[in-house]
Amino acid sequence: MAQSGTTRNRVAEKTPASDLPQPVKVQQVRNTKIFINNEWHTSISGRTFPTLNPATGDTICEVQEADKEDVDKAVAAAKVAMQLGSAWRKMEPSRRGRLLHRLADLVERDRLLIATLESLDTGKPFLQAFFVDLEGSIRTLRYYAGWADKIHGKSVPVDETFMCITKHEPIGICGAIIPWNFPLLMLMWKIAPALCCGNTVVIKPAEQTPLTALHIGSLIKEAEFPPGVVNILPGFGPTAGAAFASHCGIDKVAFTGSTEVGQLIKESAAKSNLKRVTLELGGKNPCIVFADCDLQLAVEEIQKGAFYNQGQCCTAASRVFVQEKIYEEFVRRSIESAKKIVIGDPLDPQTTHGPQIDQQHFDKIMDLIESGKKEGAKLEYGGGYLGEKSLFIQPTIFSEVKDSMRIAVEEIFGPVLCIFRFKSQQEVIERANNSRYGLVSAVFTTSMDRALSVSGAMETGTVWINCYNALHVQTPFGGYKMSGNGRELGEYALAEYSEVKTVTFKMSETM
Ligand code: ADP
Repeated sequence: MAQSGTTRNRVAEKTPASDLPQPVKVQQVRNTKIFINNEWHTSISGRTFPTLNPATGDTICEVQEADKEDVDKAVAAAKVAMQLGSAWRKMEPSRRGRLLHRLADLVERDRLLIATLESLDTGKPFLQAFFVDLEGSIRTLRYYAGWADKIHGKSVPVDETFMCITKHEPIGICGAIIPWNFPLLMLMWKIAPALCCGNTVVIKPAEQTPLTALHIGSLIKEAEFPPGVVNILPGFGPTAGAAFASHCGIDKVAFTGSTEVGQLIKESAAKSNLKRVTLELGGKNPCIVFADCDLQLAVEEIQKGAFYNQGQCCTAASRVFVQEKIYEEFVRRSIESAKKIVIGDPLDPQTTHGPQIDQQHFDKIMDLIESGKKEGAKLEYGGGYLGEKSLFIQPTIFSEVKDSMRIAVEEIFGPVLCIFRFKSQQEVIERANNSRYGLVSAVFTTSMDRALSVSGAMETGTVWINCYNALHVQTPFGGYKMSGNGRELGEYALAEYSEVKTVTFKMSETM
């Protein structure tokens, strides 16, 4: 599931324009209600909220707004689905895997429609949604479908009068709180391992982007998951989201979003029922470009890392340290490369750069760009936005960034590439690690020794060497320090969705 912009570009570049997938015309969005027990519900409060197209500012449709009472209703349904003797609880594990494969088949069938909805709701380019988000989602479902009947414990040798085994059991009801930057993919990263391990789930998509999650609700029903196994509640963070974190009926919450909200969730989890929490939070990701690197490769990979998804990625390449000898040339080539980015209508296959998600986020990014200018960073490219009342920010490049500037410290979550200068390896390792975050880092060098020693020194959950955004469903993803707790993806994620039970038999006879 390579999730970099490269996937879209490589496939799209090789495909004749006439053969490229095309968005479908969405006259009316079909699924706009709360999904509980395989049925569609209106909100108990009677409230709805609009979901907007960030490219135009138009309302796409009104969506039912879940609040605490709706969360209670969904948790009750998930509890019944999880109880001893239920169809889900008794289901053979390999059949759980077949259900996940069936869901993957349905996502493939509806791939054009889902990619269109994702593009409309987030503003991300349609082809990026089609080739990256949808491909990654399908692969995640199939990967965990394969695990469903391979999750097992051990027999553990102890004192000879006992026989001990461990069993890996589902945790129970798992809450998933989803961000707006990769609404479908982040949902799959959570529900695929949760369902493969036999849990039931309640999901809250981000208020900005509920549409693809709700479409998945219709596919869950069509795939014939038992009622109550998957429940989807569109709603706001401080209401529905907070109700997940503090709910005593929810056994685990998986959250992707800001570090500040991650802290609130952990606090609520501790104060309610000590539910398990996994967090995938912010990043201020260092990239180290040594003078001996393949310079063009470094420029291209870092550029995609910085501007992919309009920079709205926790993995964004946001602090790029370039060794003195190649500094000017790196900046020059970065500017040339940024000029090739095509800003425009996200549904147009030529577009590679869309709008930011909403006005509040746009304002935050523009404020940080202004702070960069004021604090003395050199604006090399971009720095503005297109037209009045538009959310399209130009890809922006700053050079001569100093470690203490706001753009060097705060997570921008926008299309801003900050380039720093460094002299020695020792110095750059210290500066790269000088952050409260520790999500990903990247090293560009042709020296194997340097790549290995620097990757060992990085305080991050992932280190990419001579590549960027090279995420794969088979490998774990998560952060050190304040970038999060726990790991998603790969075999490691299974542990985040299972309890281990030790069963000890006392034997009356021994040989
Ligand atoms: P961002 O700042 O990028 O919008 P957030 O962390 O605010 O990211 O949002 C990520 C997800 O967390 C969204 O689904 C949002 O609704 C939810 N959320 C926001 N605030 C809270 C909260 N207090 N409790 C639980 N979930 C929340």
